[in-house]
Amino acid sequence: MTDSRHTRVLIIGSGPAGYTAGIYASRAMLSPILVQGLEPGGQLTTTTEVENFPGFTEVQGPDLMVKMQEHAQAMGCEIIGDIITDLDLSKRPFTAKGDSGTAYTADAVILATGARAKWLGLPSEEAYKGFGVSACATCDGFFYRGQEIVVIGGGNTAVEEALFLTNFASKVTLIHRRDELRAEKILIDRLMKNEKIHPLWHHELEEVVGENDPKGVTGIKVKNVQTGEISEIPCKGVFVAIGHAPASELVKDQLELHNGGYVKVLPGSTATSVPGVFAAGDLTDHKYRQAVTSAGMGCMAALDAEHWLAAQDD
Ligand code: FAD
Ligand code: NAP
Repeated sequence: MTDSRHTRVLIIGSGPAGYTAGIYASRAMLSPILVQGLEPGGQLTTTTEVENFPGFTEVQGPDLMVKMQEHAQAMGCEIIGDIITDLDLSKRPFTAKGDSGTAYTADAVILATGARAKWLGLPSEEAYKGFGVSACATCDGFFYRGQEIVVIGGGNTAVEEALFLTNFASKVTLIHRRDELRAEKILIDRLMKNEKIHPLWHHELEEVVGENDPKGVTGIKVKNVQTGEISEIPCKGVFVAIGHAPASELVKDQLELHNGGYVKVLPGSTATSVPGVFAAGDLTDHKYRQAVTSAGMGCMAALDAEHWLAAQDD
């Protein structure tokens, strides 16, 4: 038999946006249910030091997310380890199906499904995923002790991953398609001072090269985007760090989206194109994409949901 649960507010996602919405919705006595998804704690669980969340000079990403979960639970938020596989926003109450078989109904929904790592889309990248190709240095860096590895990208994630990987690797080549990084200055400064890191400007990954017995990466082919010249770099690991795309699959045919898949919200609000559905965090934000801004939007979403529900009850 299908288990069914009704809630005033269903929060989908357990990153900074989801947990903050959980804290505020609980304190508004809405008895929210929060469904965590495949990645409890969200993107910050894939990193190490976080140095820009107010109140913490330095905190490990996973520890910060455990603190947020405990905070939401302490305020009364019910947290469920499930993944929403289907969401129907066409009528109220809204309905969501969980991978566990549970059917959730809700008077209001807060979407906080965040973003996921982007891939280059090369067949050889796909072929060696999990066998030398990764998008998470924190998860996989340990396997490359004493090895040469490459990182692709030029943003904060790529620079942080390259720095972190120097704890294990003998050499890290940072491959970027331009000669200017978009990472924060403080990170660029650390990168440039690190003798293990060798930037390779104006290059793109062309192909991952490997062997099959045992399966693993042996090197990469890169293209100089200015001259078209192809060259080879021997390496055991390839870390792709080219940004993130919003996780909007559940709602892509039901809500207005913009900027390549981000959920559109009314300016200064978290209201989406469907009344009673609110969105917060990286799912809506192509510009700032920070833990603290996501948490702020989670707060806004819970307050917006509270006001909207109160108006329905009048
Ligand atoms: P996310 O953290 O992306 O969480 C999304 C949540 O939604 C996850 O829990 C997931 O399981 C859940 N979910 C998705 N789909 C479903 C579904 N179908 N059903 C149920 N749940 C679902 N920002 C900083 O401010 N400082 C930093 O130092 C920093 N470092 C970073 C390092 C790395 C490596 C990365 C990748 C990002 C970093 N960021 C940092 C950015 C920051 O992590 C994000 O801005 C923030 O996590 C976004 O929060 P969010 O709540 O919107 O979503
Ligand atoms: P990002 O800022 O979007 O940077 C992506 C990088 O990958 C860019 O340098 C881009 O090159 C490159 N790139 C994109 N597509 C590519 C392709 N097809 N081929 C080659 N290169 C490609 O993404 P991010 O670094 O993951 O950061 C995402 C958000 O999280 C940002 O808001 C960031 O501030 C935040 N974040 C913060 C921290 C922190 O505060 N310490 C840490 C990590 C992430 P171009 O530069 O040429 O476009």
